[in-house]
Amino acid sequence: MKCSKCSEKAVIKINYMGQALCEKHFRRFFKKRVRKTCKGLIKYDDKVGVAVSGGKDSGVMLHLLSKQTDPEAILIDEGIEGYRDKNVENAKKVCEELNVPLNIYSFEEEYGFRLDGLDDKNLSRGPCSYCGVLRRSLLNEKSRELGFDKLAIGHNLDDEAQTGLMNFVRGEFHRIARMGKEVGVVEEEDFVKRFKPLRRCPEKEVVTYGLLIGLDAGFDECPYVKQAYRADIRDSLNDWEEKYPGTKFSVLNSSDELAGLIEDEFRGEIKKCSECGEPCAGDICQKCSMLREIRETL
Ligand code: SF4
Repeated sequence: MKCSKCSEKAVIKINYMGQALCEKHFRRFFKKRVRKTCKGLIKYDDKVGVAVSGGKDSGVMLHLLSKQTDPEAILIDEGIEGYRDKNVENAKKVCEELNVPLNIYSFEEEYGFRLDGLDDKNLSRGPCSYCGVLRRSLLNEKSRELGFDKLAIGHNLDDEAQTGLMNFVRGEFHRIARMGKEVGVVEEEDFVKRFKPLRRCPEKEVVTYGLLIGLDAGFDECPYVKQAYRADIRDSLNDWEEKYPGTKFSVLNSSDELAGLIEDEFRGEIKKCSECGEPCAGDICQKCSMLREIRETL
């Protein structure tokens, strides 16, 4: 297969564009898209934090951002044996190679338990629900302590399209309203603004870019992902993309457009959690109510 732009051998076929690209043209195309996604989101004097996991997405993101900014990395170790522990080692290697300081925090030290074992506790939700809320909350708290002005999150197009579709199917419009390049419908100084440089990059392209730059990253899946509703949404989206190339972009564009239309409606008052003092919509934040539920079972 030849590159659609020159006579070199193609390294990737991009079905939604009806093109194949060689290494040079693919790298150029990929970097241009990331630059465009980040445009206007970071200022030259921003202290940029990069949330890393030791996986391919955050590894690729760190490579690109370390060329444009002077970032610091942050990693949350949820305590998932055989998965996160391996990825923590990958993250250390990548950060060392790029000379980026890495800050590691764990559920065990911060909350007093590991994620492993929670699914035996008869809790009201699956492990991913607790993992997502507790990790997001810790990321925000620690990013603030580290003085980050912005925090880059490595969600790719597949992740974003899955989230958009999942929120729509569940009728969770308040979540759709928070989607977009910059997360957060409210200006609140205790929330560190997030941005997602890879949100318009399909997973296949992130993997290809990672392989081309020789990224030493984990390509394994978390053992809990199969229990998540997201896994079914992901499989459906992959089937649709196969049959109708460009579906993932369409879902993302629809979510973004809807977010713009309903954003004001969900711009609620921000209070402080009565237990931890973190910003939240109600009297007690989701993290504290989940921690209460978990601690009752320990
Ligand atoms: Fe956490 Fe679920 Fe993601 Fe695993 S798949 S890291 S449990 S949110």
